[in-house]
Parts: sequence; structure tokens; C-alpha cells
Amino acid sequence: MKRINLDHAATTSLDPSVLQEMSKAFALPGNPSALHNSGREARAMLERARSKVAALLDVLPGEVYFTSGGTESDNWALRCIARDDGQQIAVSAIEHHAVLHTAEWLKKQGVPIAILPVQPGGTVDFSLLKETLAGNVAMVSVMTANNETGVIQPVEEIGLLCHEKGILFHTDAVQAVGALQAKALCAHADLVSLSGHKFYGPKGIGVLVIRRHVKLTRFMHGGAQERGLRAGTENIPGAVGFAAAFALAESLREAETERIAKLRDRFESQLFAALPGLRRNGEGARLPGHSNLCFPVRDGRALLMRLDMAGIDASAGSACASGSTEPSHVLLAMGLSREEAQASLRFSLGRGTTEDDIDEAALRIIRVVQSM
Ligand code: PLP
Repeated sequence: MKRINLDHAATTSLDPSVLQEMSKAFALPGNPSALHNSGREARAMLERARSKVAALLDVLPGEVYFTSGGTESDNWALRCIARDDGQQIAVSAIEHHAVLHTAEWLKKQGVPIAILPVQPGGTVDFSLLKETLAGNVAMVSVMTANNETGVIQPVEEIGLLCHEKGILFHTDAVQAVGALQAKALCAHADLVSLSGHKFYGPKGIGVLVIRRHVKLTRFMHGGAQERGLRAGTENIPGAVGFAAAFALAESLREAETERIAKLRDRFESQLFAALPGLRRNGEGARLPGHSNLCFPVRDGRALLMRLDMAGIDASAGSACASGSTEPSHVLLAMGLSREEAQASLRFSLGRGTTEDDIDEAALRIIRVVQSM
């Protein structure tokens, strides 16, 4: 039985052309901090990767900081922002745990945290956001697109609103690369988090874009790497892979988003036609490959396991939370009951997904749900 991967939002496999680029970096012996020839070669390769990422994002190379992934970028943005005593950090209720758990930790350290509610469709509630912004807020963090529902947030409007009030805006754009235009990702934000493994690049490499005017304190103490803010010998193969995968994702973006959205819509219409009581979670603009569905079953966990046995990879909530039996915090924030959230699964299509995969997956899912 052919396995069908409908869990691309959790991670993607390394593109072979990216691996090829990375192998050149693995072959380099030098440490980029060394002053000899091998060191200079390694530094040049790292800086070429940084410039490539900066050009794609339409920011300066000096604004691109390599990290170990989306989680680290989110931690850095929230933990190291310069703020006065008593100033709040506001985060949306549907952020990834990399943001939410960091905010919870900050709260324990005495930093006032505001949680921004979302509407039933999954976008941030604007009137409540405006109320929060009337207070003493240092930074707002709202993700570009949600990892569970794929719902795209109005980050342009949020960024403009924050900037009118002199408030910094951080956005976690980890899920958006390859779906939304690269140049738009940093257009209205002061800080932007990205992660290589979500767009067919390597795992363990990410970027935090820190615009020039933003003051972030040092995140890792040690050497002078990443302009003295994030110490540690740089992951050059990772940076090279990140840049190569990002360039490839951007070059394929228009064709792939159209192809994948059509497949996703075909998948959903087959399921809706066969399963009365099925509901979609999330309204409005969505990432092309995401489909978050509430099934007419009692136990989503059992459904997920039965689908696994039927050769389908899907997910309940985010990959990082999938060990937990708690219903998704994202769906609860959108107003679903615990039962509805627990009966919901995320399917996410990707570059390798074909029409045959979609038709076969829909058939298997319908059969499993009808047998429950
Ligand atoms: N932010 C979002 C929206 C994500 O989807 C993820 C990963 O699932 C992360 C952050 C964490 O990224 P990483 O796995 O690179 O640490």
C-alpha cells in the first residue's frame, strides 16, 4: 500500500538540489571566524547565503540573522526585545507554542503579557487588538499564517496599526514561505521568524530578520558571531541549504500554489460530498495546502490512528504538540468545543502531492470515517 503524505506542514523532505548545494559547504574545512584562507572561504560562503536570503526578502544582509530554527527565532524576538518596565508584549491566542510558551515564561518573570483573541474564522479580532494597542505595549506578535488552519492573518494592517503607535511588530512567517510572496514577508514587520525545514530545506536552521532600527539584546553569549548577538560557530551547510531552498520555493511559488490549492479544493469537495456533518475549520484566505477539518466522529485520535493504518499521514494540531492529548489551543481559541477540536484533523499537501494521491486519500478517509 502506497503511503500518502498529507503532513507537509509538520516538515518537508530535503530537495535533492538543496542537498547538492549543501554538500559543497560540508566539504569546506574552515571556521568562518578564522583569519586564514580556509576561514575566509567559509565566511564568504556564509555571507553569500545571507545575501541571497536578504535579496529574496528585500532586506539588508545585515538584517538577516541565522538561528537554529523557527523556535529559536521566536524565542529570541520575544525574550530579547528592549522594553521599559511595565510595557506589555501582546501575542495572538493562536500562535505556535514557540511564541505562546515563551510568552508564558516571560509572564512568570514579571513581564505583562496580553493574549489577543481571534474570531471564529481564525483571524485576530481587530477591535480587541485596537483596545490592547491603546495601552502601554512594546511589541505585538501575530503569525503570518497559522500552522494548523492555514488561515492568513492581516499582517499588513496589523503592522501599520502597530507602527502608527510606535509599537514593534513581530511575525512568525514559518509556514508562509513558498505560499506568500517572499518580498512581502518583511514589508510590514520589524522582526520576522523563518524555518528551513518547512520549505524543503534542512532541519535545524532558521532566520530571524531584525530590521536595522530594532534593538534586540544578545541571545547567546560567547563569541562574536552574528554581529555579536548570537554566539556559536555558524551552521554553514544549513545556511547554504536555507538560501537554496528559499530561492527554489520562491521560483516555484506561483505555479505550485495554484496547483496545490486546486488539489486541496478537490480533496475537500470529495470529502464534503461523502461525509455529512463534516466541517471546515478556518475561513477566508488560507495557505494553499492546508485543510483543517472537523469530522463527525467522537475521537479524532482514533481517526488519526486508523488513517495511519490506512497509509495516510495527517496530524492533530501542530507536530510539536502531537504527543499531547489536549485539544488544539488554536481551535479552542476559535470557539470550537473540546469535543469538536478533538474530532479535527489537519491535512497538508505539498510539492510531491499528485491528483492520484488526493483521490486515493479521499477514498481511504471516507472509508475509515464511515466505518467508525
Ligand atoms: N512557528 C510555526 C508557525 C511553526 O509551524 C513551527 C513548526 O512547526 C515553528 C514555529 C517551529 O519551527 P522549528 O521547527 O524550526 O523550530
